[in-house]
Amino acid sequence: MDIHQGGSRPTKLGPKESFTGTVWHEQIIEAPEPARLRTNRVSFGPGARTHWHTHPLGQTLYVLSGVGRVQAKGGPVREIRAGDTVWIPPGEKHWHGAAPNAAMAHVSMVEALDGKFVEWMEPVTDADYGAKAGG
Ligand code: MN
Repeated sequence: MDIHQGGSRPTKLGPKESFTGTVWHEQIIEAPEPARLRTNRVSFGPGARTHWHTHPLGQTLYVLSGVGRVQAKGGPVREIRAGDTVWIPPGEKHWHGAAPNAAMAHVSMVEALDGKFVEWMEPVTDADYGAKAGG
């Protein structure tokens, strides 16, 4: 058994190649093989979001605080709030992030397929991000 004490691993900024705005990653676990789980606490500043991307085995998001947005390609921008759980199926192109005027923190849970958790794509345009959010 391992216990990783709070603050023992550095909080990292999300790289510009994959995120728009200020996004902090705090690692919960990247479990050693044969486990596949990678879990992070991810905190988005107002207006910050991921680029478009897919996950080979899907992704679960659990919103801890604030107000955010999520969109699957071809679908509406949807608002998410603390206590919401989002399931993104394998291969579904999507993005997630904070609302324009509110921060948002979520737990991200993904599993690796052949060592890969995510495939990054193009940034989310301001027009796509700013589309009116519904529930
Ligand atoms: Mn995702």
